[in-house]
Amino acid sequence: MIDDNSKKHYIAIIGGSISGSEAAFILAEKEYRVVVFEMNDLPYGKIEDGLPKWHINLRNKQEQNIDEKLNHPNIRFVPNVKIGRDISFDDLVSNWGFTVVILANGAWKDRDLPVADINKFVDKGLVYQNALLYWYNHKHELNYKGSNYIIQDGTVVIGGGLSSLDVMKLGMIELVQNALFKIKGLEIDLFTLEKKGILAVLNEYHTSLEELNLKGMTLVYRRNAMDMPLKTPKDTTEDSVIKAGVVSEKLLYKYANNFMFQFIPMSSPIDKIESNGKLEAVVFHKNKIVNKKLVALKEETFKLKTPMLISSIGSLPEKIIGLPYDYSILKMKNDNGYRVDGFSNVFAIGNAVTGRGNIRESKKHGTQMTNKIIDNHLTQDKFFENWLINYNNRIKSEVQVQIDDIEIEIQSKKIMPNKVIDMILNKTKTLQEKAGYKSYESWIKLKTPIRLEDMSKN
Ligand SMILES: Cc1cc2nc3c(=O)[nH]c(=O)nc-3n(C[C@H](O)[C@H](O)[C@H](O)COP(=O)(O)OP(=O)(O)OC[C@H]3O[C@@H](n4cnc5c(N)ncnc54)[C@H](O)[C@@H]3O)c2cc1C
Repeated sequence: MIDDNSKKHYIAIIGGSISGSEAAFILAEKEYRVVVFEMNDLPYGKIEDGLPKWHINLRNKQEQNIDEKLNHPNIRFVPNVKIGRDISFDDLVSNWGFTVVILANGAWKDRDLPVADINKFVDKGLVYQNALLYWYNHKHELNYKGSNYIIQDGTVVIGGGLSSLDVMKLGMIELVQNALFKIKGLEIDLFTLEKKGILAVLNEYHTSLEELNLKGMTLVYRRNAMDMPLKTPKDTTEDSVIKAGVVSEKLLYKYANNFMFQFIPMSSPIDKIESNGKLEAVVFHKNKIVNKKLVALKEETFKLKTPMLISSIGSLPEKIIGLPYDYSILKMKNDNGYRVDGFSNVFAIGNAVTGRGNIRESKKHGTQMTNKIIDNHLTQDKFFENWLINYNNRIKSEVQVQIDDIEIEIQSKKIMPNKVIDMILNKTKTLQEKAGYKSYESWIKLKTPIRLEDMSKN
């Protein structure tokens, strides 16, 4: 069923990945017109640049799903435009004529490691997870121009959670793959190492970390294995939480065994030791849990010497000037957390709201919140009327041309004036032309990078 209110609205979505494409599709199917602004060539977000490249089936399935959604006649995809850099948020909200702006820009800023002054070692001994995963997923591409990393034996990783386990796997695969080639002359592809596990591959070739001259990597987590958010509890009851904890613990030790890394629980970084301007070691303090709360044992410390430190302690939404934040989290109104504070027509979905989540949660949040935006705002005449009044007042004060025409059109038809629609179409077309974009399908074909072949199937 087509909602009559649809023709009144033109909606901007920032970010085209899991949650952005979900929202765009729901709106487009209801005949709302949508522009999706995406900062990268491709709209796949963490699926392309975060999820390690061995997740071939998951990546292909999710990217195909995003394509099916965004390749819609009511959606205009505008790549290579970063809101906050290429267009200011103020400008987008105030001057472009969109009735609603939806933030689906995910969480791309690594949380800062809580050690004073440690960031001076970024890319000089310290690597943050988002940069590392970007390199890992793209380094095989012929025209890759980003940072380059060489995983060092003895690397320490700080974190806990599924993505930290991916970081451990990635690092151990790199180390062992290189050592197998260098020392044993064996060329084992990453997909085989990931699927079988390092222990199984080393056993198969009758070798060991020792023979490969490797110590391996160490994961340090502030709590116990059972507290790791590896398995989501079914509900909030104590029983479900304990059951999920048991699964998380089993998972962690299974990974540590199969990928041959060390695990140090109940420890948090507190300081660093440097030598000749290089990061030499990290100092940790132990923790204990009292009444389910983490208590720091500041006197009980130990240090780990490391040639490379990887921080995998989570991501936050990258701040966009013009939006309100509570520390690093987007400040939301209290009505179930989808309306951004201080705006009547700006909403946020997916990882952009919490900085956390997985594909399922991002999709679900995208769907639920978009339906709420439609039911509670877009289909309410009052919402559109308010937008009209605001828009009218703004253009009256800012642009003294063609106002009379627009006013007449607004007041008589109570729909979005053609001049506003034309303005959105013209401005977005200029941006598409600047990027060299012609159609969604041809663009995706042109920009999809070379994929590695999964040799484990041969
Ligand atoms: C290492 C790792 C492993 C993971 N493994 C899994 C897994 O196995 N299973 C699972 O379910 N989930 C996994 N996830 C999580 C999953 O990838 C994310 O939860 C999901 O992709 C989030 O979707 P999103 O649309 O909210 O955000 P994103 O995917 O981050 O999309 C945000 C989009 O917005 C764009 N953007 C950002 N800022 C701007 C701007 N200012 N202007 C214009 N565009 C902008 C970005 O380029 C991006 O396309 C993993 C994540 C990581 C990092």
